[in-house]
Amino acid sequence: MAKLTYPRYTNLCGWNAMLPARLPRPALDRDLTVDVAVIGAGYTGLAVARRLQEIDPQARIAVIEATTVGEGSSARNSGFTSSHLLPRNATMEMAEKARVQGRFYADAFDWLMKIVNDNGIQCDIQHSGSIRAAATEAGETSLRKVVEVARINNIAHSVLSREDIQRRIGSPYYRFGLYMKDTILLQPAALIRGLADALPSSIPLFENTPVTAIRKQDGWVVETAGGVVKCKRLALATNGFIPKFGYLKSRMATIYTYAAVTEEIADARLGAIGESEAWGLLPSHRLGTTLRRIGRNRVMVRSLYAHEAELDEREATAALRDRFVRRWPDLADIGFEYLWSGTTAFTMNGAPWWGQLDEGLYASGGCNGSGIAKGTMLGRHLAELILGREGAYDAMAQSMGRASWIAPEPFRTIGFHVVSALESRKAGLEM
Ligand SMILES: Cc1cc2nc3c(=O)[nH]c(=O)nc-3n(C[C@H](O)[C@H](O)[C@H](O)COP(=O)(O)OP(=O)(O)OC[C@H]3O[C@@H](n4cnc5c(N)ncnc54)[C@H](O)[C@@H]3O)c2cc1C
Repeated sequence: MAKLTYPRYTNLCGWNAMLPARLPRPALDRDLTVDVAVIGAGYTGLAVARRLQEIDPQARIAVIEATTVGEGSSARNSGFTSSHLLPRNATMEMAEKARVQGRFYADAFDWLMKIVNDNGIQCDIQHSGSIRAAATEAGETSLRKVVEVARINNIAHSVLSREDIQRRIGSPYYRFGLYMKDTILLQPAALIRGLADALPSSIPLFENTPVTAIRKQDGWVVETAGGVVKCKRLALATNGFIPKFGYLKSRMATIYTYAAVTEEIADARLGAIGESEAWGLLPSHRLGTTLRRIGRNRVMVRSLYAHEAELDEREATAALRDRFVRRWPDLADIGFEYLWSGTTAFTMNGAPWWGQLDEGLYASGGCNGSGIAKGTMLGRHLAELILGREGAYDAMAQSMGRASWIAPEPFRTIGFHVVSALESRKAGLEM
């Protein structure tokens, strides 16, 4: 097999850079034999490892991570999470699906929060709720359907006018909004670092240890530069990078999206970003822009998508600045202090791929938005599948569905560009 590639980014993760330095766990420097090896220390991989240990405390488990915890996508995200699932395409069928999935999702969220509380993980949780907002007539029409789903699914919410949104975020840009009370906002790098550092001491975690190849041989052999890990069962918790291992190439693709954080805004100008000290805003269109006030005096902007590779940094900066200045023209002189990209997995129907790939080989990927709770949920259930818990597969597969087929290259890249051009036109000012 050709050497595996793993996520490598031009820029460091801004959330991680805003925290005090953390000492990574040592890289693998010897051969090792375990019962289960987990590749990837994001929300999915850490949930797999922790749940395996909960069910079978005697199991020998190891987690192998290419980068340092805090530099992967689990730290690069916008830090919105909730125990509720509210679909973007609000049909009644989606409402029913969200209700069924919501039960698993809420369990995973509660499990995650218990780990956070039991281990005293300081990740700056803000119970500020979130706003889904529309800037255009089409966005408002689509969001009004989501309001209906929130009502039917008993999700605590309220509707916001342009003035309500402006009061909170300072900008009159949005015409209609849906406020969801139960969303929490957190510092994602602090959360994933806390989860890694709170792994039971019996589970070794090897950071800065890219897996270069895997092969089936009396179980599985995982190759790294510092040593091999032999295991009976192997879990790929590498999300959009599963295809790099030679699996699920026709089910998922790697997508990059971008985030930037402004420099600190002077106290005298803070009125421009609203009355609320903490707020988070999600777009009504899937190509839209996510915004968040962070650390009292900064704004985070998340937007843009790229297929399989990062964009030119100047292009990404210019696009994110355009999004920021359109919303806050009075702050046009405020620059970005941090800009970074992160990867997610694109699947054609939005469903993850979760299950067994081969004898002793398991994977969970295709986690795009909502990965903090969803990755935790998928990882937790993957552990149950790995340990042969009855019903583990059926329950998850029925509720989540499975990633459908995607055309191979070159049609895939062409398709990505055509669809993103069409959708960008539709999204218009939601971007
Ligand atoms: C900019 C951005 C904003 C987002 N906003 C949100 C949000 O607000 N809320 C939310 O819930 N979700 C959000 N997401 C999505 C969320 O971050 C992902 O869904 C989540 O990270 C998926 O977790 P995971 O553990 O499955 O995968 P990842 O976090 O990608 O973890 C996989 C790990 O596998 C490692 N790996 C890959 N290949 C190898 C290899 N060969 N050897 C060893 N290790 C390897 C990687 O280094 C990585 O650390 C956002 C994502 C991005 C990029």
